[in-house]
Amino acid sequence: MSRVIELYDYLHTIPELGFEEHKTAAFLAEELKKAGFHVTTNVGSTTGVVGVYDSGVAGPTIALRADMDALGHIIEGKLCAMHTCGHDAHSAMVLTAAEEMVKTGAITKGKLTIIFQPAEEIGTGALAMITGGAIDDVDMILGVHLRPIEETTMGKATPALYHSASERLKAVFHGVSAHGARPHLGINAIDAAVAAITAVNALHLNPTETYSIKATQMIADAGVTNAIPNEATVIWDVRSEFNPTMEKLLEKAKAAIIAGAATIGATVDVTNYFGIPAAEYSDEAIEVLREAIIDVYGEEGLYPPIKTAGGEDFHYFIKEKPSIKAGYFGLGCDLTPGLHNPSMAFNKEALEQGKNILIAATKRALNR
Ligand SMILES: [Zn+2]
Ligand SMILES: [Zn+2]
Repeated sequence: MSRVIELYDYLHTIPELGFEEHKTAAFLAEELKKAGFHVTTNVGSTTGVVGVYDSGVAGPTIALRADMDALGHIIEGKLCAMHTCGHDAHSAMVLTAAEEMVKTGAITKGKLTIIFQPAEEIGTGALAMITGGAIDDVDMILGVHLRPIEETTMGKATPALYHSASERLKAVFHGVSAHGARPHLGINAIDAAVAAITAVNALHLNPTETYSIKATQMIADAGVTNAIPNEATVIWDVRSEFNPTMEKLLEKAKAAIIAGAATIGATVDVTNYFGIPAAEYSDEAIEVLREAIIDVYGEEGLYPPIKTAGGEDFHYFIKEKPSIKAGYFGLGCDLTPGLHNPSMAFNKEALEQGKNILIAATKRALNR
């Protein structure tokens, strides 16, 4: 047995929020250095870490990427950083794979780049790494995520985990204040927000393209309850399986929000933010991962591609560098009751196989 579980157990004790992964990054950078990698810290002026091992022989550059950040849960009224998305597991698998490949002389040509990325949960960590040059000379990038038990189970892995595009729409409605006794003199921003929400709920796109849009926050508080509020804010969470669907959905939703507000004479400022793209993998990277899963688990461990409405900022690596070949596998580990749940737990024995899949995939990618 390798030290992957030991590394996971340690990283699990030092959860840190996005862009604050100081202890985690320092530890991972130090271990990478000890393993023989040329290490750069503070990549993109963040806690990001990049390690490069150059075989000295011409060949492709393969990158393994792990995220480092924890989530901030409110437990008994207190903000607690907790690793409930398994990023500690991803970092432990990638670090152990890196160490073992150097130790066993597996990097016979090309370069192996290790990317420890901050702030995946915030959705901006990958962009910071790209700005910092982390993927400038990378030909193929591979990522991994633990999967909940409903998707796949212990002893299985999928070679393609398709995340959705994920966006937020924010609308600020402007009405006109008036006394509660004279509503006809005002324009109620709450009514405008409700009209816009109803208009958005009536939108239809091609039902063969998976998408979802729903209001997830509404704030309207004029400070008093006997007056017409002149401002309301609504946020929608927007997801779609494909990037072009997201563009269509945002365009239609913005028009519906403006039209909804206009029905009562209100105006509205609408913006979208977050902007995580949907997965767009290369066939070659999927094939490398498919073969690697079979190497480790046999045919019976190969699970079909999984689609999730969840987002992943990994997909910025592809959006910002379309020539990169990207792949991302999902690891079954009997994870319950779910990711982002403070009680999240999984079978740690899966980490050994996850690490072995990373090694097998890297070897296959280098030697294609
Ligand atoms: Zn997460
Ligand atoms: Zn995650």
